Amino acid sequence: MNMLPFSVTILGSSSAQPTLTRFPTSQVVSLNERLYMIDCGEGTQIQLRKFGIKTGKINHIFISHLHGDHIFGLPGLISTMALGGKKGELHIYSHSELKLMMDQLMKFMIEFEDFKVIYHPLNFRSRAVIYEDSKIIVDSFPLKHRIPCCGFIFREKPHDLHLRGDIIDYLNIPIRDRIAIKNGADYLTPEGKTILNQDLTFPADPVRSYAFCTDTLCLKKIIPIIENVDLLYHEATFADDLSDLALKTYHTTARQAAQLALEADVKKLIIGHFSSRYKSVIPLVDEARVVFPNTFSANDGDKFNL
Ligand SMILES: [Zn+2]
Ligand SMILES: [Zn+2]
Repeated sequence: MNMLPFSVTILGSSSAQPTLTRFPTSQVVSLNERLYMIDCGEGTQIQLRKFGIKTGKINHIFISHLHGDHIFGLPGLISTMALGGKKGELHIYSHSELKLMMDQLMKFMIEFEDFKVIYHPLNFRSRAVIYEDSKIIVDSFPLKHRIPCCGFIFREKPHDLHLRGDIIDYLNIPIRDRIAIKNGADYLTPEGKTILNQDLTFPADPVRSYAFCTDTLCLKKIIPIIENVDLLYHEATFADDLSDLALKTYHTTARQAAQLALEADVKKLIIGHFSSRYKSVIPLVDEARVVFPNTFSANDGDKFNL
């Protein structure tokens, strides 16, 4: 199999306040060299530089909610993009209020000439497709936090079937018919005989998916949406001994995140959005692994391949 590179790079893994080792939330999803940013906490542009990700290649930013630790990096990042001569459009998917906040800020910033920021309001009531291109489809779905908040799921589009070279060559099938066969068509020979698609192809590569869930109470109702994903990022702001505080502040504990991953039958879990009270997050990972062994902590600069 020759699958396209699909990865998630953690730019920030702290909640609320930055620490010396963890910036607030931001991530970059990369599929075949295309970059998609999720959240943009303070200092995100510094992290992009530090981890060698090209700022100018980011054209789509998905913002889960409007708490400062998820958006304070946007004005600086946009300003840097404009100064760097970015052209074309930057699309931001967020609560509609973000545009009002950003318009106020941008009024006093540099003039953008060939660069436009376009805002797309999210749907906080139900799951919705919010972005699609030739390789990927992105859905938003509501989470439960102190203010409206969405999770995101990135799914590859279905791949073409693989042609069986030996049979294709033997039958001398023309190029235009090969394209149809890759998409599932049978083949009609010049003699009028039908060759079934299953005899001409091998199965397509599996479709990979990534789900991002922060900030939220642990929500069982999202299980049908995140079920079977290859990689789940879920917030685990607190360890389970602070479950009362998690409930009060609409956050999740490490054990709860692991239980959700287990019930949703995901392949791998990353926990993050850690409270700055934790000098080490090893106890949170250990707590999660009791329930869901394939759990890892998000650390700034970590890259997870799907
Ligand atoms: Zn947060
Ligand atoms: Zn929040």
